[in-house]
Amino acid sequence: MNAENATTLLPPLCCYDPQAEPFGRYVLEMLFAEGLTGAEEQNVREAPLAADALKDRQAVIVAPCGEDTGAEQAALEALRQGTPVVFLRPSAATSAVLGLTDKQRRTANEAYIALERDHPLWFAALGDFMQFHGTADMYGEYGGPENVLAWIAGRDWALPFPAIVTGTYGAGRFAVFTYDLATSTVLFHQGRREQASTGPNPDFDGDGLFCPSDLFIGYRDRTLLDLPQADLQQQLLMCILEWASAPHAPLTRLWYYPDAAPAIVLLNGDSDGMTRPQMEWYTNMVEAHGGEYTVYLMEEHLKHLTPEMERDYRRRGHSAGPHIWHSLKPTVEEMRQRIQEEVALFAERYGYPPKTTRHHCVIWPGWVETAKALADAGFRMDTNYRAGDHQQYGYLTGSGLPMRFIDEDGEFIEIFEQETLFCDDYVLVDKSFLPPLSEEQAIAVSKEYIDAARDHYHTVVHLYFHPIYATGVQVNTGQFIRTAGWFEAVLKYATQEQLPMPSTDRWCTFNEQRRATALTGQRWDGTSGVLHLSVESDDGLPSGTLLVPARYDGLELAEVLLDGAPMELTRRSVVGVAHVLAVGGLSAGVHEVAIHYQ
Ligand SMILES: [Zn+2]
Repeated sequence: MNAENATTLLPPLCCYDPQAEPFGRYVLEMLFAEGLTGAEEQNVREAPLAADALKDRQAVIVAPCGEDTGAEQAALEALRQGTPVVFLRPSAATSAVLGLTDKQRRTANEAYIALERDHPLWFAALGDFMQFHGTADMYGEYGGPENVLAWIAGRDWALPFPAIVTGTYGAGRFAVFTYDLATSTVLFHQGRREQASTGPNPDFDGDGLFCPSDLFIGYRDRTLLDLPQADLQQQLLMCILEWASAPHAPLTRLWYYPDAAPAIVLLNGDSDGMTRPQMEWYTNMVEAHGGEYTVYLMEEHLKHLTPEMERDYRRRGHSAGPHIWHSLKPTVEEMRQRIQEEVALFAERYGYPPKTTRHHCVIWPGWVETAKALADAGFRMDTNYRAGDHQQYGYLTGSGLPMRFIDEDGEFIEIFEQETLFCDDYVLVDKSFLPPLSEEQAIAVSKEYIDAARDHYHTVVHLYFHPIYATGVQVNTGQFIRTAGWFEAVLKYATQEQLPMPSTDRWCTFNEQRRATALTGQRWDGTSGVLHLSVESDDGLPSGTLLVPARYDGLELAEVLLDGAPMELTRRSVVGVAHVLAVGGLSAGVHEVAIHYQ
């Protein structure tokens, strides 16, 4: 390690070429989601990459770029001089320079990766096998087990072709993904465009309605629904960046949650058929356990929440939004119009536009068209993606983190998708076309998800409970559903484990503030063992938390000062590496942070 290096490092840079791969730009979203909130992007088609401009970057990630842009050449030269670089599905020429040779004429499409337990960056949460989406190039043998982090694979057997490799080139550390992690992550989150209502295979499962799960039928391996596959591969990228940038400085990130919480539990519900007492009962139950509830109201149920009650709910931390309903198979334009009508109704009654929503029957025409319509109507978080039909529960999108949408042209859509993992009626009755769980089974499996999120995945455990099922009701298949016991068990467990239960609106606001809080100007002073950085926050980030490696260059982290005052420290293993989480009151403006190692 270069202890003398006191250069101010620029934030990580994502390089992409919209002509080669419009989703390459999604790397930026992945870095922000992981708390590298100062990260920047460069369209190499418009502004060619220069090796000299990369030399002080914390890290450079090169999405697939056309060879005529010269981007990979520039990144290779910067790497040779010491800049850490991650290449996503680079050209055969670049791969050959980095030691990946013997490229096969075949490619691997829509396959799996097999994680290599012997690689030093492997961590337990990764397990052994995960899916990837899109195409991987197949190269011959590469180094030893300490160089290959994952192999291209079938469902449960590895093939002898590397999927992720690490190495050094000149003075720099690098990794190569032989598949395009950015595109794969977009497809994890957003599913198959051809199975959208606007594609050649609308209503893919033929159940008579357009909903997000149509996009994932035949695409998401149902045996891996317990695994947040997209988040884990994103965390693996962070693990690689920490290792690759280590010769220059420790890598600091903004943690996912306030107050160093290891995970959160998000509880909300839709108004379908509910009475006012049922709504009040569920809201009060959440409040009695220290949490906040969000109710999504159909037009006909707005009457249950009077403007006076709404103000009182909001004062107590709860929130409300519309439960939008047009029909089972609306066109994109019909849904857009209905969204605007319901926003107007809501705003007229409560005096402000709603921020979060879930649709009745999670109706979702188009691929990202409904996300665009919601963003245009002022929504900032959507909860419509859920593992309902044929999947019952789990990580349908491979993710429990709030992430923005991206359209087919590579334009970001300014609304977070926060996937719902458990829907009461899809778990306790057979709406999913799978056998319903008993109350005991539902409690056990939701506790398992909470445990895994707290200890390994650090995801949002998001469950919806309809108020109407509070007191019990017979559904149209004749089955009886009553959710109060399960609901209360989740509340008790989250309280016992000290996991925050914010309203969906509060959670959305925290994420907006976190995205607007940038970590910049990192400078490692090897003589004194101090990492300096600036935190610039547009709106402030209450209980904002920094994530820093606990050990660096043979030193142990001793204290973290925010504008000279010590931050509160929590120690935790994250991605299999000892880390420190530092909590402080990050008000709006610029703060100086000094991280002391000794
Ligand atoms: Zn509904």
